[in-house]
Amino acid sequence: MVVKEIASRPMRRRRGVRVEARVADDSGPALAIWFNQPWVARQLAPGANVLLRGALKRRHEFHVREWEPFEGAEAPVHTRGLVAMYPAAQGITKRLLRELAQRARDAVREVPDPLPASLRVAERLPDRPAALAAAHFPEADAEFEAARRRLAFEELLLLELALGRRRRARQAARRGTPLGLGGELVDPWRASLPFELTREQGRAVEEVDRDLAAEHAMQRLLMGEVGSGKTVVALHAMLRAIESGRQAALMAPTETLAEQHLATLDRLLGGLVPLALLTGSTPASRRRELLGRLETGELGLLVGTHALIEAPVRFRDLALTVVDEEHRFGVRQREALVAKAPDGRTPHLLHLTATPIPRTLELTSYGDLETTALRELPSGRRSVETHVVSGERARARAYERIREEIARGRQCFVVCPLVEVSEALQARAATVEAERLRETEFRDHRVALVHGQLPSRDKAAAMREFATGSADVLVATSVVEVGIDVPNATVMLIEEAERYGLSQLHQLRGRVGRGAHGGLCVLFGDAKLPRLAAIATESDGFRLAEIDLELRGAGEVLGTRQHGLPRLKFATLPEDEELLVLGRAWAERLLEGDPELEAPEHVLLQDAVDSRFGDRSAGAQDEALSERSPVARSGRPPA
Ligand code: ADP
Ligand code: MG
Repeated sequence: MVVKEIASRPMRRRRGVRVEARVADDSGPALAIWFNQPWVARQLAPGANVLLRGALKRRHEFHVREWEPFEGAEAPVHTRGLVAMYPAAQGITKRLLRELAQRARDAVREVPDPLPASLRVAERLPDRPAALAAAHFPEADAEFEAARRRLAFEELLLLELALGRRRRARQAARRGTPLGLGGELVDPWRASLPFELTREQGRAVEEVDRDLAAEHAMQRLLMGEVGSGKTVVALHAMLRAIESGRQAALMAPTETLAEQHLATLDRLLGGLVPLALLTGSTPASRRRELLGRLETGELGLLVGTHALIEAPVRFRDLALTVVDEEHRFGVRQREALVAKAPDGRTPHLLHLTATPIPRTLELTSYGDLETTALRELPSGRRSVETHVVSGERARARAYERIREEIARGRQCFVVCPLVEVSEALQARAATVEAERLRETEFRDHRVALVHGQLPSRDKAAAMREFATGSADVLVATSVVEVGIDVPNATVMLIEEAERYGLSQLHQLRGRVGRGAHGGLCVLFGDAKLPRLAAIATESDGFRLAEIDLELRGAGEVLGTRQHGLPRLKFATLPEDEELLVLGRAWAERLLEGDPELEAPEHVLLQDAVDSRFGDRSAGAQDEALSERSPVARSGRPPA
């Protein structure tokens, strides 16, 4: 554009100035406007050539966001048509980057393409030189998007190949204990169950059987909400170990959970095999006796806490470990468990988690675990009526509802605000709230209190009071999140719900509506908050995990889970999930036929994987794969 006339004038309604310039080029005249940048009027004189970028507001009226003067009559070639926008780096201007890109334009034609031609044809992807040219010098938006898609796919394919190769290497290194699938115990046990396995449980059991029979040790993550029937699948696996004359252990993060597991297994087993509990509070004499029976192999099935992995615990032949709530155990503890198997073999590992992992994360950060999901609840998903409310009137109504439920013989949780800075503060707040409720709203009822600062004896006593029905209301901090199972509890009331994360809220809500009576969840908070709006309308935990990922972004979610996601240049997750799934499928297919990517048509691919995501030594790759950076959103030049 050539500047015809330029002037600075005060704005009419707001304070400040706007600079207006009449400009023109071959396409005709336009009015360019800068807000609050009075110096522009001094820097651009009539007759100057200028390149403008901004938003076209009305016909020919332009709000300038970026501008660059240029010499000569014609705009430089790198600024014609759609112009790539590069994130400027220190010392390198956007303009310089554009010029460099322009100079490299011819060289791009020589760039090798790592994607095998057959793949490119099957997926109708442009080749790499064409994609690079279109990404930097697109002639239309659609062309740019096709180029970006191709580059993002390539990036995700390389990632999945790196993960897949690492997974295979680890698998090969984990010599396991192949278990026979005789069925001497499993078959009669299955026949004795008062229910049929669901379709998903059936599939899970098949996958587990296949893993157990293999030469390398299983590493499987079984995801499913509380009540989705994970324990049944785990027990199936444990019985496989026992019917082969070996041992199995189940490890839970807390004593309460370990006790609950023991009770569940006991009920599901109906005395079929002996089992025992080992925790920190197992008395010394009992403990000695258990350890003896473990060492002789007489005891096949052990349930417990971290106590299971302490040094004096020796199994005769541990073939399988089930780890409940996998993310609560550190890597080191897991390794200690692995060391419990005899003669350097690795026990099969089955992780159970009630926190659903969205597909995006499953395919990136959890690349090392095979996964199975139980999405449906055997009993059907009874949705818990959920309300997000605020204000005194709503609060009074909520307490009224709760008193009605109690009058019907039901029970209620009151969960106090999460105080991350101090457990002591949180405990104090819960204590105060329990007192308040005892004196006011629930004057005529029995209110128990549990929080993390109580001695474990008192904690257990409070839980027991509630579980046996001798308390009507349990005021609690977030400690009730895990484990507690009281089918008679029908109301979950959460104070300052906005302090909790989406998955925590879902877990808390999962504490009610488990019996025959349905459930009610009242969240005190702002109903307009996206997180609270989501929990109010959605009951599927997997769906909520995906929404959480969308709301927070992959970097944030991974940060809190302490898992790394590699830095990506072209792809954005979870938005590019479809490409990720495609990349995984292709990676599997390619590695299946050519595990080392040695075939001539894969040599470039192998080089690309190595240079992008580290070499094949597992250590170097771990590092390259787990740069703990948020997902990069920059770096793609918008047209
Ligand atoms: P999770 O460990 O995932 O929380 P459980 O395995 O403890 O779930 O199962 C929850 C409840 O559902 C248990 O009481 C269990 O006996 C029951 N259950 C499990 N599978 C089925 C099924 N296929 N049909 C009916 N009930 C089932
Ligand atoms: Mg369970």
